[in-house]
Amino acid sequence: MIPDRALRKLKDLLGPENVLTRRDDLAPFGTDATKLSYMPDAVAFPGNAQDISRILVLANQEDFPVIPRGAGSGKSGGALPVRGGLVITMDRFNRILLIDPENLIAKVETGVITSVLQEEVEKLDLFYPPDPASTKISSIGGNIAENAGGLRAVKYGVTRDYVLGMTAVLPTGEVIKTGVETAKGVVGYDLTRLLVGSEGTLAVITDVTLRLIPKPPSTKTMMALFPTVSAAVETVSGMTRRKIVPTALELLDRLCIDSVREELGMSVPPECGALLLIEVDGEKTITKRDGKRIRDICLESGALGFVAASRKRDADKLWEARRNVSPSVYKLRPDKVSEDIVVPRTRMAEFSSFLDALGRKYELPIAAYGHAGDGNIHVNVLFDKKAPEEADKVERVVRELFRKVLEMKGTISGEHGIGLTKAAYLDMELSRPAIEVMARIKLAFDPKGILNPGKIFPYKV
Ligand SMILES: Cc1cc2nc3c(=O)[nH]c(=O)nc-3n(C[C@H](O)[C@H](O)[C@H](O)COP(=O)(O)OP(=O)(O)OC[C@H]3O[C@@H](n4cnc5c(N)ncnc54)[C@H](O)[C@@H]3O)c2cc1C
Repeated sequence: MIPDRALRKLKDLLGPENVLTRRDDLAPFGTDATKLSYMPDAVAFPGNAQDISRILVLANQEDFPVIPRGAGSGKSGGALPVRGGLVITMDRFNRILLIDPENLIAKVETGVITSVLQEEVEKLDLFYPPDPASTKISSIGGNIAENAGGLRAVKYGVTRDYVLGMTAVLPTGEVIKTGVETAKGVVGYDLTRLLVGSEGTLAVITDVTLRLIPKPPSTKTMMALFPTVSAAVETVSGMTRRKIVPTALELLDRLCIDSVREELGMSVPPECGALLLIEVDGEKTITKRDGKRIRDICLESGALGFVAASRKRDADKLWEARRNVSPSVYKLRPDKVSEDIVVPRTRMAEFSSFLDALGRKYELPIAAYGHAGDGNIHVNVLFDKKAPEEADKVERVVRELFRKVLEMKGTISGEHGIGLTKAAYLDMELSRPAIEVMARIKLAFDPKGILNPGKIFPYKV
């Protein structure tokens, strides 16, 4: 609960128009892509790092939680105000400050929407590779806080690989600069890397310097249809064996295909149990050569069909359909838990048989899709929370899933983070001393535990 005197002070600091306190206005800031909902006590729209610094100093004095919020597309509940408090949105941090084609960097405020930055740099024949499927609805700050991956991670890596430095406000109110604005730098501990992926628990990041690369001159998008998921993922291993690294290599299983069938713009026969969407980029001669090699590998591996998108608009349609899988699987059931495990690429076929058996055992539909090129599969357990015989099983399904993934030397989250929804499972993957050292880092940054409490750790830090 935020005391009234603190709310008055907040309005003085930011202007009353930048602080919301009416219940109806607050509700949209208490939810995200998990569809869970918690009511904040207030929402603030700071305009610069100094505003955030003053808010955090006040929060320490008056002892209320502060929760940073980007665009609210998070899938692990990181931006949810689980203990009430003040949500601070980064909406006003929406400026691209610099695109420097000679030093190959961009400097942006963290509320900028990812696709807006991508489009702006591409106008200058530059490229910002991190490409979460949520690119049109997520912010650069949220991508950094979650170390977002995405479709192009298989070739280009994840957000962390493109962050050179940042301005961050510590939970105690100090404003710090980390990292560099140059191509490299090794001065002191690497706080930039620590803050990337810190899920809004260690600092509020206000602007960042990002690494850019030249834009690849051409791309080629293909779709291969397979009778089963096992056949599709065996093909992925076949590509790796032959040293082909596509830009994107995405898998959809039968349930996912059904949920976006109309949007694909190409006909998919009913006997198709899985499809791969594949993109390569580079010089035209290279994309042509790789496209042909990929076609051969798919057909040798038993593909039922293979098409290359001949026009940009057909390729865009395929990728749009892929980006819509996550919301579209709600057609199958009103509720889902969405996990984003990673297994070694060579064990994906074994993992897909396990998933089939898991779905049969618990009699729940499980839709699987995602970044097959990385072994990062989004496992969506679908259910109806109003049907207790379904809802009661979900927790057991998730535990069994995570046990198997860890047994296979995988990880329970490839890119969505631990946040709220996976905190209870953290100790399945990390040892107690590892969690304790993380808790000590949290305390060093945030002695009073005011920044985004209730996230990551399975117990109160
Ligand atoms: C349809 C769909 C597809 C998706 N596809 C992908 C995908 O392919 N790859 C992927 O990695 N993720 C994906 N996601 C998940 C999500 O989009 C990412 O995690 C994204 O990075 C979240 O950004 P956001 O701005 O919405 O952050 P929010 O949801 O607002 O917040 C996420 C976390 O970041 C923190 N945070 C936000 N801004 C700041 C800041 N400035 N400083 C400090 N902390 C901050 C919050 O406190 C919270 O813990 C998808 C989500 C959806 C709905």
